[in-house]
Amino acid sequence: MRILVINSGSSSIKFQLLDMEDESLLATGLVEKIGKSEGLLQCTLRPGTDRCRKLRLERPIADHEDGMRLVINLLADPDKGVIRDFTDIDAIGHRVVHGGEYVRHPTLINDELIAIIERISPLAPLHNPANLDGIRVARELFPGIPQVAVFDTAFHQSIPARAYLYALPYEMYERHRIRRYGFHGTSHKYVAGECARLLGRQLGQCNLITIHLGNGCSMTAIEQGLSIDTTLGMTPLEGLVMGTRSGDVDPAIHSFLARNAGMDIEAIDRMLNNDSGLKGLCGMNDMRDIHAAIQTGNERALLALEVQTYRNRKYIGAYLAVLGHVDAIVFTAGIGENDAIVRQKSLTGLEQFGIELDIAANLRCEKEPVLISSANSRIQIWIIPTNEELAIARESLEVFTKGSESMQNQGRLSRDCEFCIAPHPKTGMPIPERLF
Ligand code: ADP
Repeated sequence: MRILVINSGSSSIKFQLLDMEDESLLATGLVEKIGKSEGLLQCTLRPGTDRCRKLRLERPIADHEDGMRLVINLLADPDKGVIRDFTDIDAIGHRVVHGGEYVRHPTLINDELIAIIERISPLAPLHNPANLDGIRVARELFPGIPQVAVFDTAFHQSIPARAYLYALPYEMYERHRIRRYGFHGTSHKYVAGECARLLGRQLGQCNLITIHLGNGCSMTAIEQGLSIDTTLGMTPLEGLVMGTRSGDVDPAIHSFLARNAGMDIEAIDRMLNNDSGLKGLCGMNDMRDIHAAIQTGNERALLALEVQTYRNRKYIGAYLAVLGHVDAIVFTAGIGENDAIVRQKSLTGLEQFGIELDIAANLRCEKEPVLISSANSRIQIWIIPTNEELAIARESLEVFTKGSESMQNQGRLSRDCEFCIAPHPKTGMPIPERLF
């Protein structure tokens, strides 16, 4: 069973081909600069084996279809490829950022689901249309191969109203669907599952705080296996301090800047998304550069580190209060997996809450799960590498398997997605024609 995982962005396509018999990676790569004059395809075939080959192709890539054709030609290349032709692919899993309130599970893609993703696009204008580009092209190029959408927001659909509602006039929620949705759900769910396995329990028996620190950063409170609160909000801007995104700010800053600094809403939005966070504070958004700068006495770099790790600590405290009992804290993603200083500073002073780091273990960096709490720590602390592509492949496989059953039983595959689409929480109606 081979599954192709596609993460389609506005000018890029990330892909992985996995053999789900043993979850081995057959190929991984990235098509970049789609639509620009200098397109680039990079791919590693059979990574980690003695038949590993790295390939790089530079040429203009007109659009997503052009990019995807390059990928499939490469994967099926008679000399170096890993499949004979596209029919060797059994299913395709697409990452989709926003599923709104209606999609709670990985879902088989059909026209109805595409219409829903389109309708939700105003909530993720940069992401959902780009994800849809990948879906449309893949449906065209791989006819008859089941395709599954795995949503970043889905895992957080268990968050209760008291945590997902903003204290705005209620009609803002009713009319415009303004609420917390949360993101990075695939990553939080994956590391939570891995953590449960390491604790020797069912996920449904675990209370966890999962901390995803990459370019984007978020923290999730997980109660008995379910997300009950998370730091990213209606958009991926709220909460923790990120590479270029501000995280929490006073919402009145918008009107202050509009009235006093002559900034319009576009400029403010750009500033908060692209020029804030670590970059806004010290001019650098890569944590490795920040540490190097701190070594040379750069005070702003130190300040940026302090602001980020203080915010992390504050939310850990909040989620300890929300959960009451916590079994483990999990660090993941680029910074979470690699940066001992960020982990240590984020946990400083939490010993009285039963959180004690093993300083030596915290320095280990092994590309596999590591327990970094001391033997006395009431709450375990883990580094668990995330693997969103594998998570998407696993979830796609599950839907595909159910889909195959339904195909045999009912003679059609596509209706299987119905069980995944929740009715409106208040009216019970399936999906309104217009959301906005
Ligand atoms: P994304 O959110 O784009 O998936 P990643 O999870 O790959 O991002 O994280 C990227 C970030 O991780 C980089 O910007 C960098 O700040 C950080 N990072 C990566 N490797 C290290 C390292 N060895 N030490 C500290 N930070 C690192």
